[in-house]
Amino acid sequence: MAWEALETFAAALRHLVSAGGEMQSEWSNWSGSLCFTPGRIERPESEEELIALVRQGGSEESTVRVVGSGHSSSPLVETEDILISLEKFQGIESFNTETHEATIQAGMTLHDAGQDLLKVGLALENLSDVDVQTLAGAVGTGIHGSGNLLKNLSSEVIGVRMVTGTGEIVEYSIDEQHELIEAARVSLGVLGIFTILKLRLVPAYQLHRREYCAHIDTCLANLDQLVAENVISTSTGIPAAMRRNSEH
Ligand SMILES: Cc1cc2nc3c(=O)[nH]c(=O)nc-3n(C[C@H](O)[C@H](O)[C@H](O)COP(=O)(O)OP(=O)(O)OC[C@H]3O[C@@H](n4cnc5c(N)ncnc54)[C@H](O)[C@@H]3O)c2cc1C
Repeated sequence: MAWEALETFAAALRHLVSAGGEMQSEWSNWSGSLCFTPGRIERPESEEELIALVRQGGSEESTVRVVGSGHSSSPLVETEDILISLEKFQGIESFNTETHEATIQAGMTLHDAGQDLLKVGLALENLSDVDVQTLAGAVGTGIHGSGNLLKNLSSEVIGVRMVTGTGEIVEYSIDEQHELIEAARVSLGVLGIFTILKLRLVPAYQLHRREYCAHIDTCLANLDQLVAENVISTSTGIPAAMRRNSEH
């Protein structure tokens, strides 16, 4: 009986620790609105490791999903099997300050990419209202700012390098595989796993940020003007009770 109990415990432990991956534990997105327990979470350090994971997933008939910073509120990354994070894919691979282009590792956050690009005089043209998302996640979901004249971040993608579902490395560029680049933009992690993205950028610029509190009626009455007169204009609803509390 004691032996059986030990076997059960050992089996549970084997289930928890699988194939060198991280112990099985619950994953949740930024707000906790999405929670699930993947079989394991993997953080490959190289494309070779990533390829091996994808191929292993294929041979086990496991569902492999890739996650960025977990800031989506839709159930895009849920899997009972292998969840892969590219958080170790960091850094700018190359840049050109004349053509305003750079190739950047897909696991970089918008914040870190912005900081490194600034050092070489370049910048992303458009951003969302937070910058903790990974480049791959932001591109994969077509994130947008709010300027009338700005396109979304995905439209700045001019090249991708990715690992396909069968574990092959492919590279596409806007000049040679226009349609595939269009498909890769906003592909929600289902076309392949981006490892490097080539982006069209702009020279580094300064934004003057103004933040203020206004009644929703004032905000709505001036919305068109605010959007027309500002490069980016963002409104966040604050319940009146919270505002009253913050005034005390
Ligand atoms: C507080 C807050 C503010 C926000 N503000 C804005 C805003 O102003 N404008 C806006 O448009 N959005 C906004 N969003 C939404 C957010 O930008 C998107 O959900 C974005 O996708 C999150 O990026 P992530 O790195 O967290 O990706 P995740 O949520 O982790 O993943 C998103 C998708 O990208 C895929 N993916 C991740 N990594 C890779 C990879 N290496 N290769 C291929 N696919 C990959 C995933 O499989 C998944 O399908 C906001 C979200 C929050 C929580």
